[in-house]
Amino acid sequence: MTDLHRLSIRELSEGLAGAKFSSRELTEHYLKRIEKIDAQVQSYVTVTAEQALTQADAADAAIKAGHATALTGVPIAHKDIFCTQGIKTTAGSKMLDNFISPYDATVVAKGKAAGLVTLGKVNMDEFAMGSTSESSYFGATKNPWALDHVPGGSSGGSAAAVAADLAPFSTGTDTGGSIRQPASFCGLTGLKPTYGRVSRFGMIAYASSLDQGGPIARSAEDCAYLMNVMAGHDAKDSTSVNKDVDDHVANLNGTSVKGLRIGIPKQYFNVHGLDADVKARVEESLKKLEEMGSTLVEIDLNMTEAYVPTYYLIAPAEASSNLSRFDGVRYGYRCEDPKDIMDLYKRSRSEGFGKEVQQRILIGTYALSAGYYDAYYVKAQKVRRLIQQDFLKAFESVDVIAAPSAPTTAYRIGANLSPVEMYLGDIYTIAVNLAGLPAINAPVGFDKDNLPVGLQLIGNYWSESQLLSVVHQYQQATDWHTKRAAIAEENA
Ligand code: GLN
Repeated sequence: MTDLHRLSIRELSEGLAGAKFSSRELTEHYLKRIEKIDAQVQSYVTVTAEQALTQADAADAAIKAGHATALTGVPIAHKDIFCTQGIKTTAGSKMLDNFISPYDATVVAKGKAAGLVTLGKVNMDEFAMGSTSESSYFGATKNPWALDHVPGGSSGGSAAAVAADLAPFSTGTDTGGSIRQPASFCGLTGLKPTYGRVSRFGMIAYASSLDQGGPIARSAEDCAYLMNVMAGHDAKDSTSVNKDVDDHVANLNGTSVKGLRIGIPKQYFNVHGLDADVKARVEESLKKLEEMGSTLVEIDLNMTEAYVPTYYLIAPAEASSNLSRFDGVRYGYRCEDPKDIMDLYKRSRSEGFGKEVQQRILIGTYALSAGYYDAYYVKAQKVRRLIQQDFLKAFESVDVIAAPSAPTTAYRIGANLSPVEMYLGDIYTIAVNLAGLPAINAPVGFDKDNLPVGLQLIGNYWSESQLLSVVHQYQQATDWHTKRAAIAEENA
C-alpha cells in the first residue's frame, strides 16, 4: 500500500486490528517517507528507526495475541522536550545536545503502554521559547505549505511532521500557544488541555505554572485518540489533577453544536496587527457554526491589553528559575577548561544557551530580584488572577469562546521580527495558559498566499471533550482539515 500516510487514526486502528497491514509495514512506510522528504522539512532532530521497528514487531505480536489497545502499532513523533529513556532529548538546545535521559516522561511511558511506535523526536524552539522554531540549535524547521516559511513554534517540528505526513500525529507542549499556533500555521488540529490534565513529569520545564502537553493531529478525531492516552493523574507531577479522564473518542458527538453559545470577545477582533484574511476566514468559520445551529454572543474580555506584558513577566520569571539547573555541573553542556567554578557556570551557560533563552533568563531574573519582585512579579500575578476572572465571568453566559489562534499566518523564515513584534503574535493564546483553560485550534481555510488559517475555541475547565466534539462536528460539515500540503502528496 502506498497511501498508508493518508489514513486517519481510526482507519489505522481498524486496519491494524483487521490485519489489512501490519505495524511493521506502516512503520517502514513512515520511516521511508521521513528518509525521503524530511531533508526538505527538517522536522526531526532524531529518527529512532531501529527502536521503532522493534516496537512495531512487538505491536504486531500484541495484536495477534489479542492484547491490542486502540493505538497499538500506530506511529507517533514526540516533541524533543519529552524525556525518552536511552534516546537523546535536546529541548532544541546546545545545552542538551548530548543529553540522554535515564527515564521516560509520563506521556512517553503512557504512549508506550498503549502500544504506540515512536518514530523519533521532533524539533522545537530552544526550551520552547519562541513562535517560529528558528531558535532551535538544530536549525529552522520548514512549513510544509511553503518551505520558505516557518511552521510556527515552539512545537514547530510536531506540526511540520504531521503536515508533511511524516507522522500520523505528534505530541506538543503549550506554555503560551505552542500547540495551537503551530497547528494554525500548518493547517492542523491541536489541543491545549486544562492545566493539570496531562502530566508534566519528564517534560523539560519552561514555565511550570503554564506548561501543558497535548496532541497535534489532522483532525479532532485524531486528537481525541491521542488525548485518551496522554491525559490522566500522575503522582509524579504534584500539579496533576486526580480526576477521571473522559473517553474523548466516545464523546466526539457528545456536544451538540445546536444551541451552543459561542462568545465573541469584542476586544479580539480589533487587535492591531490582525491580518484581514485571518479575520475573514475566522468570521466565515463562525458563520458556518452559526448555520449549524450555534448562537454567537458578543462578550467583553476587558483584560486583553494586559495579556502580553503579564505573560512576558511570569513566563521568563519561571524560566529563569527552572533553567538555573543547567549549570555545566550535573549534566548538559560544559565549557572547555574552566578556570574556576564561576568561570564554569558563566561560560557553560553563555555558550550553551542561545540568544532568546538568555534574554528571557535575564528578564526573569530581573523581575524576581529583591528590589523589583513586588513591582513586577507580584503585580503580574495579581493581573493574572484578573485575567482568569474575566474568562470565568464570560463562561457564565457562553459555552465556548472563539478567537483566531494567531493574528497572522506563518511568517517567512528569517523575517527577524523584533522581540516585541514576535511577542505580540501571542496575543490570542497566552491568556488561556495564564488562566489554565483548555483551547483547541482548527483549520478554517487559507490566506491569499495559500497559507493555513486557524480558529481557536477556548473552553471552561475540563471541557476537552466538548472542544473536540464541537470541532469534530465542524469537520464533519467542512473539509479544511482534509487539505494537504503539496509535499505531503509526494510518495516515498
Ligand atoms: N510563543 C510563546 C513564547 O515564546 C509561547 C511558547 C510556548 O507555548 N512554549 O513563550
